[in-house]
Amino acid sequence: MQAIILLGAPGAGKGTLAEGVRNATDYIHVSTGDMLRAAIKAGSQTGLEAKAFMDKGELVPDSVIMRIVSERLAQGQPTDKYMFDGFPRTLEQARQLDEVLAKLGSAVNQVFLLEVPTPVIVSRLSGRRICKTCGAVYHVTNIPPKKEGICDQCGGPLYQRPDDEEATVLNRLDVYQRQTASLIDYYDQKGILIRINAGTNPQAATAELLAKLA
Ligand code: AMP
Repeated sequence: MQAIILLGAPGAGKGTLAEGVRNATDYIHVSTGDMLRAAIKAGSQTGLEAKAFMDKGELVPDSVIMRIVSERLAQGQPTDKYMFDGFPRTLEQARQLDEVLAKLGSAVNQVFLLEVPTPVIVSRLSGRRICKTCGAVYHVTNIPPKKEGICDQCGGPLYQRPDDEEATVLNRLDVYQRQTASLIDYYDQKGILIRINAGTNPQAATAELLAKLA
């Protein structure tokens, strides 16, 4: 089993880059945010536990996150290659991930830090719109749909994630600084941190990441 991590503030473009990497390689994309949103939609116990934290822009407890990630890895094959997006987000999750992978005879191979200036992040997130039907991602000014509020790909309605409203975005950035940014040192000290300039356009960032992928 191989594992890489996409690390960066909310709005750094982890989801967009993950899509580019998935299309170009055989990495399996594991987004804990997507898994939690699916759990909420399905009305499962995990969804009920996670929703209040997510709506406020707070982190979901480590125990909930480690349970869903461990369950996902347990379904995998020894040859699988995983790309984690939005996970780990705390030192505790990082340490527990190391333990889970060690038991499977594996370890984190590379961590890509997506670097983006804060004002760019705030504008990206507060302008983000998502199709309720197919999940396609738009931006009110950077990637507008042809018809306002309607998905180009499937005609579904576009919506704003409740946690993308500006006040919540600012809280999520604060949470990132307080709880997640320490992972930069954690992985740098292991010698597996790679910095990617993700502040301009997603195509260039994806190309840079693919060029640096071992
Ligand atoms: P994302 O889609 O990655 O921006 O995640 C959306 C929200 O889900 C976050 O603001 C958190 O509330 C929650 N979440 C996702 N991944 C994690 C994680 N690894 N640890 C804690 N909370 C998470």
